[in-house]
Amino acid sequence: MRGQMMDTPLLIAPLIETAAKFHGDVEIVSRTCEGPIHRYTYADAYSRVQQLANALASRFGIGMGDRVGTLAWNGYRHFEAYFAVSGSGAVLHTINPRLFLEQIEYIINHAEDRVILVDLTFVPILEKLAGKMPTVEAVVILTDRANMPETTLVNAICYEELIADQPASFDFPRFDENTASSLCYTSGTTGNPKGVLYSHRSNVLHSYGICMADSLAVSATDAVLPVVPMFHVNAWGLPYACPMVGAKLVFPGPRLDGPGLAELIEMERPTILAGVPTVWLALLNHLDEIGRKMEGVRIAVVGGSAAPEAMIRKFQEKHGTFLLHAWGMTEMSPVGTTCTFKAKHLGLSQEAKYKLQTKIGKAVYGVDMRITDSDGNNLPHDGVAFGHLKVRGPWVLKTYYRREDETLLDDDGWFDTGDIATIDADGYAQIVDRSKDVIKSGGEWISSIDLENAAVGHPDVKEAAVIGVAHDKWQERPLLLVIPREGATLDKQGMLDYLETQVVKWWLPDDVIFVDELPHTATGKLLKMKLREAYGDWLTKKAG
Ligand code: AMP
Repeated sequence: MRGQMMDTPLLIAPLIETAAKFHGDVEIVSRTCEGPIHRYTYADAYSRVQQLANALASRFGIGMGDRVGTLAWNGYRHFEAYFAVSGSGAVLHTINPRLFLEQIEYIINHAEDRVILVDLTFVPILEKLAGKMPTVEAVVILTDRANMPETTLVNAICYEELIADQPASFDFPRFDENTASSLCYTSGTTGNPKGVLYSHRSNVLHSYGICMADSLAVSATDAVLPVVPMFHVNAWGLPYACPMVGAKLVFPGPRLDGPGLAELIEMERPTILAGVPTVWLALLNHLDEIGRKMEGVRIAVVGGSAAPEAMIRKFQEKHGTFLLHAWGMTEMSPVGTTCTFKAKHLGLSQEAKYKLQTKIGKAVYGVDMRITDSDGNNLPHDGVAFGHLKVRGPWVLKTYYRREDETLLDDDGWFDTGDIATIDADGYAQIVDRSKDVIKSGGEWISSIDLENAAVGHPDVKEAAVIGVAHDKWQERPLLLVIPREGATLDKQGMLDYLETQVVKWWLPDDVIFVDELPHTATGKLLKMKLREAYGDWLTKKAG
């Protein structure tokens, strides 16, 4: 017997339609590439979304299934593209400008983008790719006539002119909710980037998921500042979730530095921030330097890499902000877990709460998790056993785009995240490491993440990386690379003495190297493969 409720498909266009209808006066504030702060409302945004949808259809014939690329910061015009493109049934391909040029060329051609919308900052990238993007018919520069740059791009169109004369009403089509809405490529450290093709249904369900009180708790009383880029997993889904509930949006544009963010926070008073640890480090350092406290920030969401305890503590004690540890990945739209408390945790001491917050938390309903050994056998959820973290659910991918022949899921339909984790009896997971980064020392495993977090707890350490390097006796041993803070006098022995108070003795790195910089991926993660290439034989060479 079938249920008798309406078969309304879960689509993206109704998110902005609804925001305009019920939260029409709520603001979207953007720092622009051109400089000034721009502000308008959901009602204004919806009009322009419809103008853009009309322009894409009438000027370029964009419709169901066509790919439209964006190379843009977090800002109102990029936001308009999110809804106009997907709303029309086309696929929004958000391109990460931090990828290598060859990778950008690869993904534009792999996606077969027909039109690319580009911010002023990134025009030079496309200029360098001129003649190498055969499917691209037009490039639209996200600015007005006064700010149009000199460009060697043929077919460059001014965004404001493109939409200016278009009608502000567009009949967004209704279609199957499993239709593709958007495409984001992973920034893999090896091989070509792989495309994750989201659907309308997966994005809408993910939005419900992150609005829930025990996840990011986004509501109509919030103002949300997504520092995490709209070119990396849809800014963690916030551009969809905020209009869903009518939250104010604050976009940082190109200014992701400490002073830029601090100024925007002071001006716009966001209640929720979202970003990776390195961004928060820069913000916290700047606030320390100018002796300022953030006011009114309820939650700072942190994810993408592990949040060190020192950071959790500082947010709470200096700024009264709950650092909400989240975990996810491009393949998961991206949010999988969030570390919020249960009733039984409320009476814990502050110290115990901080400890709990270093875990990545419990699965957001919709995502199911398990850990297995290398043969695929389930491991117990006792907080001790660790294994391959696997997930499944309506916003987890089934296959990569145009790699449908590859078997990605295990026999039971689970996706292996590539992370090694524990899960405790309350369902709280903790990332031990990436499976390829975990250090295998004499048959035991050492977590490079735990060691890094311990190292950055030292006040003289700006950034730290730990890799497993070859060792004659133990197979692998940890090597610590440290960027010291300016003016610090830290030496190897000082570092090891400090670590000895933080981790078990056999985890202590066999050597410490002080460096000026560390390599990062396009999404800001430590590029450990490069470090292993450079230092992989450090100990064996030394021993020999
Ligand atoms: P990406 O697809 O670029 O977003 O990267 C996803 C990967 O980032 C995950 O598989 C994890 O290895 C890592 N990651 C994300 N969030 C966290 C976190 N809170 N703690 C540790 N690692 C994380």
